[in-house]
Amino acid sequence: METKVTRATFDEVMVPCFSPMQMIPVKGKGSKVWDQNGKEYIDFAGGIAVSALGHCHPIMIKALEDQAHKVWHVSNVMTNEPALKLAKKLTELTFADKVFFCNSGGEANEAAFKLARRYALDTFGDEKDEIIAFDKAFHGRTLFTVSVGGKKVYADGFGPKPMGITHLPYNDIDTLKAHISEKTCAVVLEPIQGEGGIISPTSEFIQGVRALCDQYHAVLIFDEVQTGNGRTGDFYAYQGLGVTPDILTTAKSIGGGFPIASMLTTEKFACHFKPGTHGTTFGGNPLACAVALAVVNQISKPEVLEGVKIRGQKIVQGLKAINEKYHLFKAYRGKGLLIGAVLTEDWVEKRGELFNLAGDYGVLILTAGSDVIRIAPSYVISDTEISEGLKRFEQAIAFIANKSLS
Ligand SMILES: *Cc1c(COP(=O)(O)O)cnc(C)c1O
Repeated sequence: METKVTRATFDEVMVPCFSPMQMIPVKGKGSKVWDQNGKEYIDFAGGIAVSALGHCHPIMIKALEDQAHKVWHVSNVMTNEPALKLAKKLTELTFADKVFFCNSGGEANEAAFKLARRYALDTFGDEKDEIIAFDKAFHGRTLFTVSVGGKKVYADGFGPKPMGITHLPYNDIDTLKAHISEKTCAVVLEPIQGEGGIISPTSEFIQGVRALCDQYHAVLIFDEVQTGNGRTGDFYAYQGLGVTPDILTTAKSIGGGFPIASMLTTEKFACHFKPGTHGTTFGGNPLACAVALAVVNQISKPEVLEGVKIRGQKIVQGLKAINEKYHLFKAYRGKGLLIGAVLTEDWVEKRGELFNLAGDYGVLILTAGSDVIRIAPSYVISDTEISEGLKRFEQAIAFIANKSLS
């Protein structure tokens, strides 16, 4: 007999570092998912900015099935065709000429920080070890990446932390200028802070960071784990900002839902990793790379990237129309399909309720920071899915608004 599992099973057998919703999705198609009871949801969350082509896109299924009949895993003792093809494609699409594959955003950042440290040590000596990061930044959950991240609560409570990490306020070029020195080996930032609340850099800040990194021979690392692979309407967000990093990390949407991540860089930095300096068992896995190649080929098309911008505008317009009736948002942030709607003070405390109620009304949303509703759907979400999702979201908002009136 098959084991019957429910949300209660989670509390029974899972390490409780998450507190998932009550419903359990069992099926997805496009921007719709269905739970164990057959209830339908519009997916405005996209698996937290991962499902770029929605659920079970035919292109992804074909790539996965084709590769499934060829070879699944060979380790890095051998290379494989899907990894080489994907690396070639990524170098064609970006500033990079070298690619390192791994399995998660945290691992890509771990590789980036280690590479920056090794480059600085090889080139300038071991005094140059400072990594500058920014408040509210999120870079992953390994001890190194969580320590570089800008949320102390995530990094505290695990004993001694890696040293040589400084946190400064985002979008404050003067503070960076006052602090950066020849001891700085790297500056790392998200070209839009995602988990921190969908915060875009000013052009003064982003250009200033690049100039200061050049002046002090510091490696500029862009964490594009959330902004990358078309999410903002540019293939990578740096391309829309006109500022090129030295190292770029990417994960989330690159595999459209299959776990894969990568670190992109140039020959100048890449040559400081030699056989044995860094590694991974699963990174560059043929199945993952075959799926990611299909996803990247699709989402790098100009018409798909243009579609991201158009859909982003439609959703923001829809949120503004809802706001005219309920006055719950005070600002809209983000770019393309990484949308943040900032809640007014009254609504901040109702955020948890709104999140849950949206689910009850059949739409999946996200939050970010302490006061932001985040929407990050598939790049190919249809007009009807957008309007249906907004309608359900409005129903949840109306329920809360009417309740507080009575
Ligand atoms: C999600 C995220 C990460 C962490 O990625 P994992 O795959 O969970 O390790 C790192 N950086 C940014 C900007 C992210 O959004």
